[in-house]
Amino acid sequence: MESGEIMISRVAAQSRYPANFQLIAAMNPCPCGFLGSQRCSCTPDQINRYRSKISGPLLDRIDLQVQVSKIENRELLNQRTQVKGESNQQIQQRISAARERQINRQGKINNQLSSLELENISAR
Ligand SMILES: [Zn+2]
Repeated sequence: MESGEIMISRVAAQSRYPANFQLIAAMNPCPCGFLGSQRCSCTPDQINRYRSKISGPLLDRIDLQVQVSKIENRELLNQRTQVKGESNQQIQQRISAARERQINRQGKINNQLSSLELENISAR
């Protein structure tokens, strides 16, 4: 994931392919998906077993982990619902501004920084 490419090795040959991507993943907080409500009947042992299915090395490569609260279906399906009062256009403008700041600061966007470059920027 860090190198931005994947190497496939077979007996006869090796091949490199580009694999620069941004991983965005989601999982339920427990096997039933209702942790925190009365509908959840999962035991702590079941929850630990469920969460341990995601390997440590994979979790180490996920830079940002955010726990989000449940949203009601009708709210999710309502086209007029806006997240925290922002429209998609406003969110897009904030993202564009953040990307522009990254390019002005370091000449590239954050996910293209090497570990060393990231340490140097963090130490400033
Ligand atoms: Zn549950």
